[in-house]
Amino acid sequence: MSKYCTKCGKELKNEDIFCGYCGNQMIEETEDGEKVVTVSKTNGLAVAGFVVSLASLLISFWGITSVVGIILSAVALSQIKKTNESGKGFALAGLIIGIIGIIIMFVAFLFLVILSFTM
Ligand SMILES: [Zn+2]
Repeated sequence: MSKYCTKCGKELKNEDIFCGYCGNQMIEETEDGEKVVTVSKTNGLAVAGFVVSLASLLISFWGITSVVGIILSAVALSQIKKTNESGKGFALAGLIIGIIGIIIMFVAFLFLVILSFTM
């Protein structure tokens, strides 16, 4: 997705705050007509979700923390869609890692059940 300078109309990168051609500061209008300066900051929840998901894989709190990581990442993704913040990569990674964590938990659980039946 790209955007255009509101002053000179040149194409800019989405994360640009200032136009590289004329130096114009990007001010975008929201749906209700409110003028908002585009700030390229990373969504904190996206980072939190990523860290929680990753940590749950590493410390083997299978399931519980993975679910928290997935929820945080999903909320972060919807926030990023609205606010245009950066950190989408973190949110997506958190979501994927969280899902992997749950799959591992499920497989481990299944393995334990099978094991207990065969013994
Ligand atoms: Zn410009």
